[in-house]
Amino acid sequence: MPYRTIIEPFRIHTVQAIDLPSPEEREAALQRAGYNLFGLHADEVIIDLLTDSGTGAMSSEQWAGMMRGDESYAGSRSFFRFESAVKELTGYTEVIPTHQGRAAEKILFSVMVSDGDVVPNNTHFDTTRANVEYQGAEAVDLVVPSEPSEILPFKGNMDIEALRATIERVGVDRVPLVMMTVTNNSGGGQPVSMENLKAVRAVCHEYGIPMFLDACRFAENAWFIKLREEGYADRTPKEIAREMFSLADGCTVSAKKDGLVNMGGFLAMNDHETSLQARNLLILTEGFPTYGGLAGYDLEALAQGLEEVLDENYLRYRIRSTEYLADKITGAGVPIVQPAGGHAVYIDAKAMLPHIPPHQYPAQALAIELYRNGGVRGVEIGTVMFGRPDPAGGPDAPAPMELVRLAIPRRTYTQSHIDYVAEVVIDVANGASEMHGYRIVDQAPWLRHFTAQFEPVIA
Ligand SMILES: *Cc1c(COP(=O)(O)O)cnc(C)c1O
Repeated sequence: MPYRTIIEPFRIHTVQAIDLPSPEEREAALQRAGYNLFGLHADEVIIDLLTDSGTGAMSSEQWAGMMRGDESYAGSRSFFRFESAVKELTGYTEVIPTHQGRAAEKILFSVMVSDGDVVPNNTHFDTTRANVEYQGAEAVDLVVPSEPSEILPFKGNMDIEALRATIERVGVDRVPLVMMTVTNNSGGGQPVSMENLKAVRAVCHEYGIPMFLDACRFAENAWFIKLREEGYADRTPKEIAREMFSLADGCTVSAKKDGLVNMGGFLAMNDHETSLQARNLLILTEGFPTYGGLAGYDLEALAQGLEEVLDENYLRYRIRSTEYLADKITGAGVPIVQPAGGHAVYIDAKAMLPHIPPHQYPAQALAIELYRNGGVRGVEIGTVMFGRPDPAGGPDAPAPMELVRLAIPRRTYTQSHIDYVAEVVIDVANGASEMHGYRIVDQAPWLRHFTAQFEPVIA
């Protein structure tokens, strides 16, 4: 293209109205929700950046696929269309649909992981960690160390020496598989290089350990490899994605991300024996192996989504729109995890609010303020989510970072929506010194961030 502006490579086909509630309505909503943004109704939010999971817009071709959905219980046409799309992309011979990513994880780990095992990952996503731990195994994160402000091309990489040391320390018999999350969601949406995937592959090969990808954002990762890794500039995203999959023995996927659907997922692998066990479990929990918890029309939309997500115009727009928000707010001095991730921008609340201690939840305070000021919903990824309450009633053990994640739904918001978000963030950042912390007044014994109730700490 002769011009530099990167445009949204689609026009809008169906719209949903959004509106900003009044300041009084926003304050009332915050109080009703106990200052927990998960308790807001979507209608109380104008720009919803809570998650990029299942929140994207489908294309007219996907909707056309929905009409084609074949709802036969066993062996539907839609299943075979889905299966061939996944096989073509991944090269894996065994393809098992699931209703979302965590169902694929649950089945894979039930079959492969036992009590006392250790599962290394660059960084486990929270459901992945919980499913490993549910088997009585230990989930170990071995991402390369870096500072939030450091600009490096592949901050999602696995620390290869640490991987080797972990296997040596616990013994190869206790490591049933190694997982690689692409992109590294919990580590800021940072990509993994092909070189690093090859190095992990080599270690796994040496010890005879299967390697699986947590491949929810395989296309975004492929695009970063194209942009940043030597030797890939002239390869298509699809060629790069296929090479990524070829290095592993299988994958779990939440298709609510790069599958471009609102619900769906899959488990795929080459090992036939393991797949038979997985299918038996699937029948118990998800459904018959040719639908696995999904309708025929879901399988059609997913097959089409896997095609569209690798389109270069789409990926150029996708990664640019996240970077665009990052550029705008960092230009005004707002501290973020650098560089921008594929699906989200992570604001560094610890750097922005040094006067609020971790046990008064600076990132929660910032997320509340973004909603209070502009009706924008992000999510706290800090001590509320990952800190540990002190059984003796003292301050929580803090999380390593205090972040507010602004996740960008796919093909949903326009550039002016993002301009608005940037304006709200900058305005709130300018008032940072006035902000105060919160205390938790009620919380669940696990995954407390979904339901905890807060109140302001007024000095
Ligand atoms: C979303 C996600 C999952 C879990 O998928 P669900 O569809 O939410 O069950 C697993 N791993 C990663 C990296 C994810 O981003």
